Amino acid sequence: MRYKFKKGNKLRKGMIPWNKNMKGYGKGRIVSQETKNKMGESKIGPKNHMWKGDKVKYQPLHAWVKRHKPKSMFCEKCGKVTSKLDLANISGEYKRDISDFRWLCRRCHMKEDGRLKAFKLLHKNIK
Ligand SMILES: [Zn+2]
Repeated sequence: MRYKFKKGNKLRKGMIPWNKNMKGYGKGRIVSQETKNKMGESKIGPKNHMWKGDKVKYQPLHAWVKRHKPKSMFCEKCGKVTSKLDLANISGEYKRDISDFRWLCRRCHMKEDGRLKAFKLLHKNIK
């Protein structure tokens, strides 16, 4: 009994154990349809999780770049000297590479962000 229970534990959560189908002959079809639905649901879960994971990654990377890339005195795009500089990603891929980031003034950062958002939208549509 204990052995059988252990085996049953290997089944994925939400799935109906095989021995439940044995109770009635006609019931088998209904149960398998339910199982299909549950499999469809479980596919949505990991996808959402991955999407969340990407968002969580963003912050530590920014902190890492700030530690390794000293803050500039001027905008690295237009050369304007200002203390209001933002760390901006160049490729949009958020690589763990300080050469993929630069300090931009508010105006340049907003411009770059707009370009990146348009790029990402385009990228998504292609996918
Ligand atoms: Zn600028």
